[in-house]
Amino acid sequence: MASRPLSYINSDSSDLESDSNSETEGEPPTKRQKQSHNWIRVKCFPTGKEALDFVKGEKLWRMSGKHDGLQGRKISYNCKYSKLCGAKVYLLFKSDSQVTELYNTTSEHTHDPKCRDLTASTKEKVIQLISDGVTKPKIILTRIRECGLPEPPAKVLKNFLCNFRRKQGNHVYR
Ligand SMILES: [Zn+2]
Repeated sequence: MASRPLSYINSDSSDLESDSNSETEGEPPTKRQKQSHNWIRVKCFPTGKEALDFVKGEKLWRMSGKHDGLQGRKISYNCKYSKLCGAKVYLLFKSDSQVTELYNTTSEHTHDPKCRDLTASTKEKVIQLISDGVTKPKIILTRIRECGLPEPPAKVLKNFLCNFRRKQGNHVYR
């Protein structure tokens, strides 16, 4: 079977969970699969690189497995908050062209947003506050409350700020 080399994929990436995810379109789901997902093709990319950049850019996914099938190489991702979350994606690097397809489960995120993350609206507000120069968790919480947005537990907010800072890298927040 054709599996073209994907040099830009870290072949020995350590964050790859050893998950022999073997679902391939056309194949009946194997018995050991507990969950069955409905997959829809949501996007097509002219190259694998663009597809990978897109998935990375969403910052929502953690790679869970690779599988070489007849149609090409498939890279699966779980929701980064929980692999039990119903929202998953995979990329199909077509074996017969550069075209790479992105598939999503039809499921919404089912991870517990209260425990693990801010709601989308709160997150938006927090990012806006940070860009306005508000970086103290206490003040951020007050502002969130003032806006009537769902108030996250302080720990969750701190986690978010921490991660946000790390992603921003060169910016320094106090
Ligand atoms: Zn999720």
